[in-house]
Amino acid sequence: MITLDLILPDTRYPIHIGHGLLEQVDLLLPHLPIPKAAIVSNETVAPLYLHRLQQALGARGVACTSVILPDGERYKDWQTLNLIFDSLLAGNAERRTTLIALGGGVIGDMTGFAAACYQRGAPFVQIPTTLLAQVDSSVGGKTAINHPQGKNMIGAFYQPRAVIADMDLLETLPDRELSAGLAEVIKYGLLGDADFLAWLEQNMAALRQRDSAALQYAVRRSCEMKAAIVAEDEKENGVRALLNLGHTFGHAIEAGLGFGAWLHGEAVAAGMVLAAAASAELGWLGAADVERVRRLIAAAGLPVKAPAMPAEQWLKLMSHDKKVEAGTVRFVLLRSLGQAAIQAGLDTSLLERILLENS
Ligand code: NAD
Ligand code: MG
Repeated sequence: MITLDLILPDTRYPIHIGHGLLEQVDLLLPHLPIPKAAIVSNETVAPLYLHRLQQALGARGVACTSVILPDGERYKDWQTLNLIFDSLLAGNAERRTTLIALGGGVIGDMTGFAAACYQRGAPFVQIPTTLLAQVDSSVGGKTAINHPQGKNMIGAFYQPRAVIADMDLLETLPDRELSAGLAEVIKYGLLGDADFLAWLEQNMAALRQRDSAALQYAVRRSCEMKAAIVAEDEKENGVRALLNLGHTFGHAIEAGLGFGAWLHGEAVAAGMVLAAAASAELGWLGAADVERVRRLIAAAGLPVKAPAMPAEQWLKLMSHDKKVEAGTVRFVLLRSLGQAAIQAGLDTSLLERILLENS
């Protein structure tokens, strides 16, 4: 196991990455202010892992309740969030009862938001069970639910007390979900580490075969990069925005098709191709660079073309993005492979051109 520390102005917390961690409750116990926990999971993950976690905690005297939510991005909404509050209140959860998110990014984001709101702030711990959640959503304290008009529009910055990423949990993950997680892993290489990008090109086959050492390295390098960026800019006033590479386009895809039609990682993958194509239009990348991005994304089993949508719909959806400032959409583009930069606004004609070529 390796442990990274995320150090922020008001708090710090460990990110544990390794094997067999689910039942190593010694990692969890120091973060429980009282021996009471409420586990939030979903109907897919709970049958696989909830019992083991509950048993392990129970054996150490922790009283646990659990709430099992329906599975899916389309349930990342207000109504489903309320089921968490219903369960906490029914179980007499206190302000210091620790919420434990056991699931992918949907469960992590909703549990974190519930923890931020419950009695104005209850402790919470992330046990991410998808690759995407291990490399991205469980780290950094962004929590949210979706609104029919836009993804993650209602939320809070609220940091977990700890993140426990157990590689063994990835064994049951469907291939399509593994690929979706790889999109965010590729994102880190593209935005800030050309060496990692080259490593990914070399090791993509091993990652897709779930080679355990390769996965652990990818999770570790991704979390290192995310932790460094979040430590520098917790509330996204600057450098943290670079983590949105591919996301302005990606969120438009997710919202345009209806949440859940494409996986988040799939939408981000096609979005990164669009970002690379836009970067080439600005003269920042060469055609060979864009091709490298396409090849790596395809090798990860991800879409390189966005779904066809009318240009006006793209523009409207992107104008709802949280990265809009004073009416201008702020795009994360690539200065070079391994170096992202913000570009405020892009010509409508340039956008139409790249959308036509890449959808
Ligand atoms: P998800 O939570 O929907 O999980 C994907 C699917 O895999 C689900 O069906 C889930 O039940 C299943 N699953 C989870 N773990 C499993 C396991 N170990 N074995 C078998 N099946 C398993 O999706 P996700 O990709 O993990 O997360 C996407 C969400 O994360 C989006 O809502 C996105 O907005 C959010 N996100 C948040 C942040 C952040 O900083 N907070 C960052 C990136 C993404
Ligand atoms: Mg993302």
